[in-house]
Amino acid sequence: MGHLLQAIEELRETWRSHGSALFVVRGDPWECVPALAAQLGVRQVHTAPCLAFDERRENEMTERALAAAGVKLLVHDETTMIAVDDLPFAIDHLPEVFSNFRRLVEKSCRVRALLAVPALASLAEGLRAEAEASSNATMATADLMEAREAVVITDPRASFTVHGGRSHGLARMQRWFWETDCIARYKQTRDGLVGADFSSRLSSWLALGTLSPREVAAEIRRYEAERVANDSTYWLFFELLWRDYFHFWVRRWQGRAFKASGVLGRTPCGAQDREAFLRWCEGRTGEPFIDASMRELAATGQLSNRARQNVASWLARSEGIDWRWGAAWFESQLIDFDVGPNWGNWQYVAGVGNDPRNRIFDVRAQAQRYDEDGAYRARWGAATGA
Ligand SMILES: Cc1cc2nc3c(=O)[nH]c(=O)nc-3n(C[C@H](O)[C@H](O)[C@H](O)COP(=O)(O)OP(=O)(O)OC[C@H]3O[C@@H](n4cnc5c(N)ncnc54)[C@H](O)[C@@H]3O)c2cc1C
Repeated sequence: MGHLLQAIEELRETWRSHGSALFVVRGDPWECVPALAAQLGVRQVHTAPCLAFDERRENEMTERALAAAGVKLLVHDETTMIAVDDLPFAIDHLPEVFSNFRRLVEKSCRVRALLAVPALASLAEGLRAEAEASSNATMATADLMEAREAVVITDPRASFTVHGGRSHGLARMQRWFWETDCIARYKQTRDGLVGADFSSRLSSWLALGTLSPREVAAEIRRYEAERVANDSTYWLFFELLWRDYFHFWVRRWQGRAFKASGVLGRTPCGAQDREAFLRWCEGRTGEPFIDASMRELAATGQLSNRARQNVASWLARSEGIDWRWGAAWFESQLIDFDVGPNWGNWQYVAGVGNDPRNRIFDVRAQAQRYDEDGAYRARWGAATGA
């Protein structure tokens, strides 16, 4: 929430600098949006889609409420790298296995150019003042002020600090691509646990929508043309295809994305052991690699992909606890929470989703391999499980 507020503040500033203003309102979209449309006398509302189960219903209700007032809702879909309309199959036929999806998409799809940034009309003075006053009041409510303060990470063990504003996402891309050339080494570093640069760290801006996956793809192509094209530059594109896959997956499976038996209809372990679950959440399992990871997540809202896989496998497979509890905990903690990637990866690791290999992680072997010198466990005070 705090990162979203940072993004909104930056957007307000950008609009102000164009002589316009942003109305920040809170409430159910099917009530707030038509009310604002009526207040401003607009005939069209433009939006981006989120087509997971709840969001889809909300969009439909908003569209109906707007239509009743004679206002048209126009949806611009730039949330995935590959446009849904370009897929070589209907969404109901999304391949069950990622590698089949990737092969089909790589053979026949290209990434579309970014949508043009719409020109901002300047607002009349009175309307600008109204927008400023009502948005200031919204942003000043106690819970939002608290959420904004909560994103300031003071923990010295944190490797990376995120600010939700778009300019910070662009700066991160500039640094990780062009100033440090980290992208050219990504395939070798991506399983890292400590440090800011082993992976791109772009997920939180992508999840908020302040960066588009299409602009990251365009930057990869530019880097490949101007510097180097190698396995690592390709791998970033490959990971963005995983992101696309899970976005399409949640559109495809709707409510099944959140069912214990998953999209495969398997019987999961599903134990409802509250005490064991709390030990996992708080980093008190006694398994040092798991505890270090869960403490990092609680302190920073961030976690590497390697650690996410391990803690998820530990909870759902080794401890046999309902994987949905873990997914919900991640949803409440991650600053890059994104419905498809989160719930899809959880199903995948829990063995009820789309992993054809159905693996269970040996967390001790993983710790030995990826945290050989114990630096990560020591950093999070879990070298002895303390
Ligand atoms: C249990 C579990 C839950 C997860 N929950 C989320 C989530 O809520 N939001 C989220 O964005 N990612 C999630 N991931 C995927 C992945 O861990 C993060 O995207 C990645 O760690 C973010 O760091 P980065 O931006 O440095 O990634 P990089 O390694 O630099 O990858 C570049 C981008 O590719 C995408 N990506 C990479 N790996 C995956 C993946 N496995 N699935 C989908 N997209 C991927 C992300 O958009 C990421 O920003 C989850 C993974 C697991 C195992």
